[in-house]
Amino acid sequence: MIPFNQPYMTGKEMLYIAEANFNHMLAGDGQFTKRCHDWLETNSTSKKALLTHSCTAALEMAAILADIQQGDEVIMPSYTFVSTANAFVLRGGVPVYVDIRTDTLNIDESLIEAAITPRTKAIVPVHYAGVGCEMDTIMEIAQRHGLLVIEDAAQGVMAKYKGRSLGAIGHMGAYSFHETKNVISGEGGALLVNDDRFTDRAEIIREKGTNRSQFFRGQVDKYTWQDVGSSFLPGELIAAFLYAQLEEADAITQRRLNAWRVYHDLLEPLENAGLIRRPIIPAECEQNAHMYYVLLSDGAQRDHVLKYLRSANVNAVFHYVPLHSSPAGMKFGRVNGDMKNTDYLSEHLIRLPLWVGITEAQQKMVAETLRAALQ
Ligand SMILES: *Cc1c(COP(=O)(O)O)cnc(C)c1O
Repeated sequence: MIPFNQPYMTGKEMLYIAEANFNHMLAGDGQFTKRCHDWLETNSTSKKALLTHSCTAALEMAAILADIQQGDEVIMPSYTFVSTANAFVLRGGVPVYVDIRTDTLNIDESLIEAAITPRTKAIVPVHYAGVGCEMDTIMEIAQRHGLLVIEDAAQGVMAKYKGRSLGAIGHMGAYSFHETKNVISGEGGALLVNDDRFTDRAEIIREKGTNRSQFFRGQVDKYTWQDVGSSFLPGELIAAFLYAQLEEADAITQRRLNAWRVYHDLLEPLENAGLIRRPIIPAECEQNAHMYYVLLSDGAQRDHVLKYLRSANVNAVFHYVPLHSSPAGMKFGRVNGDMKNTDYLSEHLIRLPLWVGITEAQQKMVAETLRAALQ
């Protein structure tokens, strides 16, 4: 069986966990958390990185920092994971879905302005598959209308847009280190705070609403309840695991990119035969090979193709059910304009197995099985 995903271990995770344990530093914000923060800040050039339990938690922090109030609107794609919307719905916000581009499957920046109302507070671009959204245009629109930009960069660790790290371009950005992502800690994430206005409050919200971080830096002589907040920080064992992965993030990305290119070459004949469309990476984007997907020319074939692949021991999957066609997505949000591309693309997409260590022989078998399924 060729699994869809296989978590990659660098080999140093357990060593670092033992080290953290040995030092009796098991709660959050110890030495390994600090090393992860430094690494993330250096690597992304974000002003402030804060580890969280998940990207979901980082997005929830961003929604609090953005001061989302009942009825405030947040513009986002419908073609995304539920956490993009949930974080704002939890604060009383209303997701406003706009359609996606056919090339990258990212939010169509040309449709954003028409969705802005007096209640709009933020734009949440999602960098699908680690391929950057059209951030210059999005930032310019946000600036003109006084909106915040919160990047859902869950899939975007190590990827760039015009040389800048995804997650470090908007006012805030959220990373995921979930087992299914490129750099992992099981469950895990980080909030990147790229605008100084939010830094102090971000630390407070993450530490149950207290100024504990300032206390430990000696900036205040006791720590007290300052604001709303929750426990958004992971323990040191997670940070120790994550640090081992971050150290190898470059190598992980290169190996994934190699596997991605192997698929891209193997599948070119199927595209030329008009059976599929391969991913498109705009010139200004440096992707991270988070996923390899194909778009079937005939969507009616998808169930058959997935079943065929599975019966040949190839575990391929599809996603997402667009938010605007899911029960909670309809209840809590609304669409602006039609969702033509979202509906079409989400029904035609198949994700192929991709992980660090997949062999060329396995990839050949996947490509060959896909060809057989389609013909
Ligand atoms: C994975 C993912 C999330 C959620 O990440 P967690 O770390 O599991 O909370 C959010 N948004 C997108 C686009 C994702 O792919």
